[in-house]
Amino acid sequence: MPPLLSKLLTFIPPPKMPSSTTISAASATKPRLRGVVFDMDGTLTVPVIDFAAMYREVLGEDEYIEVKKKNASGIDILHHIESWSSDKQKKAYEVIAEFEKKGMDNLKIMPGALDLYGYLESRNIRRGLITRNVKAAVDLFHQRFGMTFCPALSREYRPYKPDPAPLLHICSVWQVQPNEVMMIGDSLKDDVACGKRAGAFACLLDETGRYSSPEYSTVEHKPDYEVTSLAEVHKLLEANFDLTP
Ligand SMILES: [Mg+2]
Repeated sequence: MPPLLSKLLTFIPPPKMPSSTTISAASATKPRLRGVVFDMDGTLTVPVIDFAAMYREVLGEDEYIEVKKKNASGIDILHHIESWSSDKQKKAYEVIAEFEKKGMDNLKIMPGALDLYGYLESRNIRRGLITRNVKAAVDLFHQRFGMTFCPALSREYRPYKPDPAPLLHICSVWQVQPNEVMMIGDSLKDDVACGKRAGAFACLLDETGRYSSPEYSTVEHKPDYEVTSLAEVHKLLEANFDLTP
């Protein structure tokens, strides 16, 4: 046999893999997840801040209706008041602080949060937190519920969500890539946008199915996953990711 032909004959295509091998090969290519970053209000804690009432009081009824119309996925109140005069801004911050204080007095842990935290801790998966609330609220949260999220970035870290900066900062502290991290939160405009802009996975916690409404169908950043409770996250992570810290 000519040497070339004998060489070619050695390149026989491998037999088609049986389906069980295909499945295990597919599971071996699951993306690696090394950290989870949580939003605080409405995600790790039960929503106690009446945001609609807060926006109404800050903006006044007419402006509230106007701004709401222009911002389908939600109002960014902090961003909105940034261009106001310092007097007007000061008053707005006082109103916001009052609503946040009421929220702190009634702080409750979200069902499933402790279990999920314990699960991530047992797998050595990093746990971080990003909130647009103030540092005092994060400190109170840590004290009250005995969980430690690190880093935990509050409103004092600028720019805040939906800017990807806080999530990218956490990735660099952890020395992981953004695509090895998941952002979980109850806000499409803040948490999902922050996660997707950073290049991370984003999981939307939508307890009531409010985001199924058509007004949200045109938003720019869509979540990779959606859950109606934190209790679902554990299975979601096991099914879709390689959890190697
Ligand atoms: Mg939230």
